Amino acid sequence: MDEAHADLPSRYRRSDGTIDTARLKAEISIAAIAATASTLKRSGRQLKGICPLHDENEPSFFVDDGKGVFFCFGCGAGGDAIALQSRLHGQTFREACLELAGAHRGATPRPTATARRPGLRTRPSGFQLARAEWRGAGGVEGTPAEAYLISRAIGHDVPPSIRFGRIPRFWRDDGRPGPRLPARVAAAQDVRGAVVGILRTFVEDDGRKARHGETRLSLGRIRGSALRLGPVAPAIMLASAVEDALSLRLMFPGATVWSTFGDANLPLVELPPAVRKVTLCGDADATGRAAVAAAAAALMARGIEVDGLFPRAGAKDFNEEWVLLHT
Ligand SMILES: [Zn+2]
Repeated sequence: MDEAHADLPSRYRRSDGTIDTARLKAEISIAAIAATASTLKRSGRQLKGICPLHDENEPSFFVDDGKGVFFCFGCGAGGDAIALQSRLHGQTFREACLELAGAHRGATPRPTATARRPGLRTRPSGFQLARAEWRGAGGVEGTPAEAYLISRAIGHDVPPSIRFGRIPRFWRDDGRPGPRLPARVAAAQDVRGAVVGILRTFVEDDGRKARHGETRLSLGRIRGSALRLGPVAPAIMLASAVEDALSLRLMFPGATVWSTFGDANLPLVELPPAVRKVTLCGDADATGRAAVAAAAAALMARGIEVDGLFPRAGAKDFNEEWVLLHT
């Protein structure tokens, strides 16, 4: 078997070790993938919305869930669900397949593992783009990212793993970047602390959330990684959303709080061996409790001590609790 795909669930592997893309595509919804990046409205048999891959004001992006394809009449991008996932998140074909297959315990790639077979593609990988954009970003002080954080009451004493930059939403097929837009940039760090991806949260110049297109887009490697708002410690707090982690950090001064950029990555996050205890911090609703339960099972199976924490005072998340009770 091709060991390159060893972390793909076996039902998506053909007997010759290659990825069973037909099965993968049959089991996932391209509309669901597109819906994470654009607001779609039904238009006949298709769904229609603002293209997440180029800058536009009138919708020219179409998704046909029955056929499992997308096409944009504005920029000409098109393809299947794997291509859409890959374009939206700057992932390689393999990374996109793993993400869509929901593979567990995805190995964190070594930087050299992103080296591509010669001639396979010319665009830089999402990993490379994320690293370059991270290096080019700067501190949040006095930027729209700080204004955004202040509007959520989490703008003071922002840790250096959060930066501000003018970052493209997308790169063209020839590798040229799309328009650079203001964004809060959060570092996705692997188990050794290396930045392997970023989460872009697009904001307006006045600090409000971006009015057009998806507000949040990841780039590079999010799976298995974490935003570190404090150093490695024997006991850490782990939250799903970045805003919740920033709020918890203010509610529990001195605690190490990390974010996994979303519920899906909560059970998958790879923790350094020095971390022995994790307090899982979830939303108050059923989704949040289910995410904490899934992560608790995964971490306990790895021998990590686990407890759970949920927002108080009827707040739905920790940012709301912070705003309600502490500011
Ligand atoms: Zn387009």
